[in-house]
Amino acid sequence: MGARFDIKSTGSENVRQLQGCPVAVLGAARSGREVARLLHLAGARVLLSEARPARQVAEQLRHLPEDIEVETGGHSSNILKAHLVVISPGIPLEIPILQKVRRAHIPVVGELEVASWFTRAPIIAITGSNGKTTTTALTGEMFRYQYADVIVGGNIGRPFSGELLKMPRPVFNILEVSSFQLESIHAFHPRAAVITNLSPNHLDRYAGFDAYVRAKLNLLKNMTGDDILLYNADDPMLTAHLRRVVPQQFPFSLKGALDQGSWWQADGIRIRWQELDVEIPIPGMRLRGPHNRYNLLVAATLAALFGVELRHVQQVAETFQGLPHRLEPVGKVGGVLFVNDSKATTVQALEFALQSFQEPLVLIAGGKDKGGDFGALVPLLQQRVKAAVLIGQAARRIQEAWQGYIPLYRCTTLKAAVQQAFRLADAGDVVLLAPACSSFDMFRDYEDRGEQFRRMVQQLEDVTHQETPGDPRPKTEDPHS
Ligand code: ADP
Repeated sequence: MGARFDIKSTGSENVRQLQGCPVAVLGAARSGREVARLLHLAGARVLLSEARPARQVAEQLRHLPEDIEVETGGHSSNILKAHLVVISPGIPLEIPILQKVRRAHIPVVGELEVASWFTRAPIIAITGSNGKTTTTALTGEMFRYQYADVIVGGNIGRPFSGELLKMPRPVFNILEVSSFQLESIHAFHPRAAVITNLSPNHLDRYAGFDAYVRAKLNLLKNMTGDDILLYNADDPMLTAHLRRVVPQQFPFSLKGALDQGSWWQADGIRIRWQELDVEIPIPGMRLRGPHNRYNLLVAATLAALFGVELRHVQQVAETFQGLPHRLEPVGKVGGVLFVNDSKATTVQALEFALQSFQEPLVLIAGGKDKGGDFGALVPLLQQRVKAAVLIGQAARRIQEAWQGYIPLYRCTTLKAAVQQAFRLADAGDVVLLAPACSSFDMFRDYEDRGEQFRRMVQQLEDVTHQETPGDPRPKTEDPHS
C-alpha cells in the first residue's frame, strides 16, 4: 500500500495531498462529475464510478477530460485501490462497496467536503428541515448586490464543486446544505451556520428523530467560538438540542424582542448583536406568509453581520418574488388565482401556506403519505378553506381527519382535481396546491407535480378564452362530507 490520504483540518493541506493521489468518485450525476473535474484539476488520478449502465449516462459523461477514468453499470473492486473515496449526496452510506471501503480503512468524504478544501473564503452554511432554499437564495441575492464574486450553491441545485470551477476565487460561499451531505463531512468549517428549524422529516432515512438531529448538528463539528450559529429560537425541538454546542449562538424569532439576536418589530427587522444594533425598515415585503418572514429575517441578519449595506437588504425584500413551486402564482382564470406550492410536502408547510392568504381558499392536497398529523390543521382549515379536493395515496387518511369540518372532494388525477377546484372557486378566491405529502405516488418529484399543475391551469385558461363570456364553470357535484 502506498501513502494513505490523511484528512487534515485545513483545506490547502488536503488539496496538496491530491496531487497524484488515486481517488474514486461514486455517482456520476452532476455533483459527481463536477467534483471529479475539481479533483482532476488538483492532479488526482480519478476513477468515476456509476451504478447505471453506460447507455443511460453516456451523453452526460462525454465532455469529461479524457484522463478521468469512468466505469459504469456497477461499482467495481477497482474502487478499493483508491486512497480517498468521494460520494455524491444520493449515495447511501450502507451500500456494499462502501462497507468494503470502510473495512479497507479508506477515508470516505462527500462532494461538499471536497469542494470546501478549494476555497479560503468564508462559508455560510444553511440547513434545517424547511426554508433552506428560499433562505439561501435570499441571502445570495443580498450578498451579490454588495460583493462581486459570491458563490450561491450546494443543495440548491448547483453543486459547490461546479460553482468553484466557474468561480475559483469567491469572496463568500453561501451554501444550502442537506442533512445527507452533512453525514460525510470532516474538515468542512462554516464561518456561520444557520439551522432554520427542525421537524420530523426524512425519518425514512434515519433511525429516529435524534439521529436526524445529530446529522444536522454535524454541521457544527469544526466550528469554534469565533464562529456563529444562527438558530430559530421559536423552535423548541431545535433549542432543546443546542445546549452544549461550541459556536456563538445567535437566536432569531418572530415572537418579539430578544436581548441579543434578531426579530421582527412593527415596521421591519431589528438586529442586536454585541456592538451591532440596527433597524431595517421593510415597508413592503414581496413574499407572502409567516414562513418567509423567517427566511427574510435570517437573510437580513447574515447580510448585516457580513457587511452588506442595509439598502440592499431592503431592495431584495421588496423585489424577491420567490422560487418556483413555493407559493408560486401560476395563472388567473375567471378571477380565480392559482397558486403552486408543490414543495409544501409536510403538514407544517401546508399550515404556513394556509396562513399566507387572506382570500378564501380552495385547497388541493394529498399525495404520498409521510405520516403527518392532518387533524392538527382542522381549526385553521375551518377559518381559511371553503373546500378541499384530495388526491393520491393519502386522500383517505386526510378525508378521515377533515371529514365533517370542511367540504371534501376526492379525485383520482391532478387534472380532475384542478377542474373540480375551479368549479368550487368564485372570482377573488385562490386555488392552492399545497399537498402536505410527497409526490412519488403519482409524479416523478415535486417539480413534476408543480409543472403539471401549471400546465393544467394554462389549459383552463385556454379553454375559458375560447368559450363565450359568462361563468365557464360547470355546476359542481355534492361533496363527500
Ligand atoms: P427547503 O429547501 O428546506 O425544502 P424551501 O425554501 O424550498 O425549503 O421551501 C419549501 C417549503 O417549505 C415551502 O414551500 C414552504 O411551504 C415551507 N417553508 C419555507 N420556508 C419555511 C420556514 N422558514 N419554516 C417552515 N416552513 C417553510
